Amino acid sequence: MRILTGLQPSGKLHVGNYFGAMKPAVELQGEGDSFYFIADYHSMTSGQDAEALRTNVRELAIDFLACGLDPERSVFFRQSAVPEVNELAWILSTVCPMSLLAKCHSYKDKTAQGIAANHALFAYPVLMAADILMYDANKVPVGKDQKQHLEVTRDLAVKLNEAYGENTVILPEPIIREETETVLGLDGRKMSKSYNNTLPIFGDEKKSKKLVMKIPTDSTPVEEPKNTEGSTIIALYKLFANETDVAQMITDHQSGGFGYGEFKKRLAEAYWDCFAPMRARREEILADQGYVEDVLKNGAERAREEATKVLDRVKKAVGLI
Ligand code: ATP
Ligand code: MG
Repeated sequence: MRILTGLQPSGKLHVGNYFGAMKPAVELQGEGDSFYFIADYHSMTSGQDAEALRTNVRELAIDFLACGLDPERSVFFRQSAVPEVNELAWILSTVCPMSLLAKCHSYKDKTAQGIAANHALFAYPVLMAADILMYDANKVPVGKDQKQHLEVTRDLAVKLNEAYGENTVILPEPIIREETETVLGLDGRKMSKSYNNTLPIFGDEKKSKKLVMKIPTDSTPVEEPKNTEGSTIIALYKLFANETDVAQMITDHQSGGFGYGEFKKRLAEAYWDCFAPMRARREEILADQGYVEDVLKNGAERAREEATKVLDRVKKAVGLI
């Protein structure tokens, strides 16, 4: 079995990225080959700042390693270190109906928020399909927002195989964990870098905890019972706290006598404590100059070797070789 996932270096790593993609990816290491990458080409679809891109790639690499990516067990690389992925994307785009891309929610959501409707943003799912098919990946851990893109990947794989032969590329499947398929942001929408509603994993302690205090709540008086249905505080608390503490939080909502401020304080503590081991690991990585570069360089070589094999097979099948 081969597992693959990618994260965009488009801003600070957040709790949604961690539970939706990174944690499952880290936990699946050793259950097969794993290929994890920093999607730098993809992040160019939503911003044009060269310095920010360079910084974000480095930061995300450190973050991923701090969160448990083990370069001994996984191939870790930058997407652009394997430029062959663009060749495969081109080949896939020749079997991709325009209507398939026009249906994608992610494109519609992002342009609705004011991100420029450029061709790359529209064609994003084709490059993503190439990312996955390039490595013969079987399983792709992602959040629910990527479900549709995975369906596009599968559609394109089927079309390519129908046109050029059954085993030209391998059909992948998403791994979406129900409990964390859509982690809520501070405003109750999906937590997302582009919505500015995130809880960072490696932020400043005071500022990060303060963000929790911004979660909107109703004006139920302290002494009265509080609504637990659809509560963002409880939904987030479930990610960080053990069952007993979650049960206590729910009971305290129902009994009354506690204000939202108290609940937010508990949430802020649990959130901060959850990432203590990752913060410690991050400090160690930062102290080891050159480590991250070495890991990415080595990963790029291994990824490229694999990608070249697959691309060769595809090019033979389509008649380019
Ligand atoms: P952007 O807003 O720039 O698209 P993002 O916050 O959605 O950024 P991505 O880099 O696009 O982050 O996503 C990386 C991975 O994290 C993907 O697998 C995605 O499904 C997952 N993910 C992102 N947000 C959430 C969330 N709120 N809940 C669960 N998974 C998420
Ligand atoms: Mg996204």
